[in-house]
Amino acid sequence: MFFYSPPYILQKLCPSVLHWKVDTQEKEIYLTFDDGPSSSITHEVLRVLEHYQAKATFFCNGKQALENPEIIEMIKQSGHGLGNHTFSHIDGWKSSEIDYFRDVKRCKEVFHSSLFRPPFGRITREQARVLSKQYHIVMWSLMTYDFHPKINSERSLKEMIRKAAPGSILLMHDSEKAEGKVISILTGVLEYFSGSGFTFNSLEDAFSRKT
Ligand SMILES: [Zn+2]
Repeated sequence: MFFYSPPYILQKLCPSVLHWKVDTQEKEIYLTFDDGPSSSITHEVLRVLEHYQAKATFFCNGKQALENPEIIEMIKQSGHGLGNHTFSHIDGWKSSEIDYFRDVKRCKEVFHSSLFRPPFGRITREQARVLSKQYHIVMWSLMTYDFHPKINSERSLKEMIRKAAPGSILLMHDSEKAEGKVISILTGVLEYFSGSGFTFNSLEDAFSRKT
């Protein structure tokens, strides 16, 4: 099951603080983009989202956000959500808690968000416990593998169409490593699911609706 591979151990360890999907019966899908903003990709992603009147959530690294403040502003102005993805894309399994929390805080100083996604999906139980007091910690339901050299857009799209369901959180990247694939996967997902009556909302709205 190559395509559906969130770290299951984590799901077992922290079932209550990590969100792997949105709890809804409505025809809603949540698109998320990690590791941006990027001057070469994010504009195009925003254009495609606008064309389909879809909202998404961008889990940005503070470092990229500092370098591209006008794109952060554009994301906000367009009604999309922002999420903290740490300042320097730090790996929670390979860093001390002090370093990890410092990096999260550094990102927070660049832009505010109520959402957090751990880089690489790696977070310890203690990191999750502490951060869940400040953030909704959002993982994902389906990974598009838009960055993976051995997976082409057609295969990725086919998997999304087969597996996405109400409340699914899809993971894509608005970064160079996904260039060439993310736009075609995104367009295919929007075309197919819009046609099937789905809407696309930001995760900030989904979580604020519940609390
Ligand atoms: Zn990342």
